[in-house]
Amino acid sequence: MKILDITALQILDSRGNPTLQVEILLEDGSKGNFQVPSGASTGIHEAHELRDGNKNLFGGKSVYNCVENINNIKDRLIGLNFTQQTLDENLIELDGSENKSILGANTILGISVAFAKASAKFYNLELHEYLYRLINDISFLNKSNNELVAPQLFANIINGGLHSGNKLNIQEFMILPNLGDLELNIKATCEIYQTLKLLIETNYDKSQTAVGDEGGFAPNLSKATQALDLIVEAIKKANYEGQIFLALDAAASDFYNKETKLYEIEEGLNLDYKDLTKYYSDLCDSYPLISIEDAMDEDDFEGFAYFLKYGPKLKFKNHLTNKKNLLSVGDDLLVTNTKRIKQAIELKTCNSLLLKINQIGSLTESIDAYKLAKSKNWEVIVSHRSGETTDDFIADLAVAMESSIKLGAPARGERIAKYNRLLNIFN
Ligand code: PEP
Ligand code: MG
Repeated sequence: MKILDITALQILDSRGNPTLQVEILLEDGSKGNFQVPSGASTGIHEAHELRDGNKNLFGGKSVYNCVENINNIKDRLIGLNFTQQTLDENLIELDGSENKSILGANTILGISVAFAKASAKFYNLELHEYLYRLINDISFLNKSNNELVAPQLFANIINGGLHSGNKLNIQEFMILPNLGDLELNIKATCEIYQTLKLLIETNYDKSQTAVGDEGGFAPNLSKATQALDLIVEAIKKANYEGQIFLALDAAASDFYNKETKLYEIEEGLNLDYKDLTKYYSDLCDSYPLISIEDAMDEDDFEGFAYFLKYGPKLKFKNHLTNKKNLLSVGDDLLVTNTKRIKQAIELKTCNSLLLKINQIGSLTESIDAYKLAKSKNWEVIVSHRSGETTDDFIADLAVAMESSIKLGAPARGERIAKYNRLLNIFN
């Protein structure tokens, strides 16, 4: 497909910080538009998110440089024929750095995904249909569709860590509804979420029902068991007992002390990786947890390997792998980067990939990460970022990848956009 024009604009994300929007126009008039998300608990190995750094402009967070970069390189792209892969390769070459620090991973991803969206229109395909063909090397002219598999929802309904102002050091407390149908799963998520709100009001105070960055409640709790007890009670009260599994994102890099090598999992409770593994195992014995993300620091390979080998043994099969194993999910550990995933495979540090397209900065490399993880039978969870826009691309990507999706609570427009896109796809 030939690119006719590329336009870039600085817009805002869900935290009111600047982010980048890119629009691509193809030769036949097809347009694609992507709004780039942004993390808060960002892994140090992620590709470089370029910001202007001028403290007088949005506290240093403006992205005018990205807009300028696009204006500077677009003449090298306009008028040329690209596939997704050749475009992404070209952008990576134009950047020339190891971690996309010259053009910015946000700049490259903006162009990459806007191109994919325009390409889907070019071929008159739904976005997920186009992506499915792209991922599975099927001709875009092939009109026979695969049977759609609804993604498992990972819905974050209590926020802690860097996404809230409370004292919970674990960042995310998620529910995984397992009712066998997307609409029912979303209904359960909403009913549990609303029940949880009432419970927080009753057990604590109405002032405690304000939400964090991903739409989950952020009551001023300090212990993981308090959050999990509330969720379990909400599940019971909403009549979904036995139909909902739970997951955590510890985001442990944020409470790891690199000097002492201890994890402050709760205020004043500092544990080494072995004791932390025992802490998680105890939680898994008491609650229907099937997945823990970033259980250890992003560079604590020893801790991760220990956790995978000696960590929680589930009493029941998790329905995703159909085995009694916990999903040990790598987010900051893997940063959607095939080099880090290869290392994790070799060192046996985890068994599931959290896939965030802006961690690596192009669609092609995200697909490479997905394929590598799948080749090892890992579970793949396509994920939003804590700083989002109403762009719903990840819903289509999760469907195309036949993967799970981590999408926050059923609250706040930027999270709802993903739920609503899924409802539309499966309508
Ligand atoms: C996460 O850590 O999985 C997450 C979604 O948060 P952030 O976008 O802040 O990295
Ligand atoms: Mg995470």
